Amino acid sequence: MSGRLPIRRLIIAIDGPSGAGKSTVAKRVAEALGYPYIDTGAMYRAVALAVIEKGIEAGDDLEMTRLSESVEMEFQLTDRGQRLLLNGRDVTEAIRTPEVTRLSSPVSAIPGVRRSLVAKQQRMGAGGGVVMEGRDIGSVVFPNADVKVFLTASPLERARRRWNQLTRDGYQVTVEQILKDQAERDERDSTRPDSPLRQMPDALFIDSDRLSVDGVVKLILDRCAELASLSR
Ligand code: C5P
Repeated sequence: MSGRLPIRRLIIAIDGPSGAGKSTVAKRVAEALGYPYIDTGAMYRAVALAVIEKGIEAGDDLEMTRLSESVEMEFQLTDRGQRLLLNGRDVTEAIRTPEVTRLSSPVSAIPGVRRSLVAKQQRMGAGGGVVMEGRDIGSVVFPNADVKVFLTASPLERARRRWNQLTRDGYQVTVEQILKDQAERDERDSTRPDSPLRQMPDALFIDSDRLSVDGVVKLILDRCAELASLSR
């Protein structure tokens, strides 16, 4: 691959619903290209965690917006993988609890919260050479991204993957419960008025049900290589 690496530092946007395999794929693509990887879902989760810790009441959108504007977030690559620091504190594990997962969806529907996180994300990716994953990267954060991917999988497959992950982390959940939560989050994420999850017409559509991680990563790297040959 290295001989075909794009000379220009590309912005690669990977969008799709939860459990489609975005994080695994985005990390692998970033590694192959030597780019940093930014998980924007982790940033919405971090705001949700801060909301819980501050005891902000449901519906207090103004206070949640203020909070999202005032917090500092930084991704750090360490020998334990990528960590997210919230005001200097490592919250990488704390943002993965079912409680934070549930709250992150309504919190991310608040326009003020989105505005401040989108601005942070645009600053993080401003120089190019980045792989960013989320729901609105190709539509709102970087509408001119060089490569846009819409990665999805069937609801049952996504729920199974999430069940595997949660039980590995020691949580007791059923696939049925995950399917129910997932359907609610999908509905909210794709019908919210501000930046709903949707597939952009110029995005490469990938259904990961019948593809291995390697297969998905290869499709994306091939698209990057195509760009490299076009720009020669
Ligand atoms: O991707 P993940 O499931 O960690 O995202 C957590 C929540 O953040 C999702 O439910 C989604 O509503 C929201 N999100 C978003 N926009 C993004 C990334 C995540 O609204 N770019």
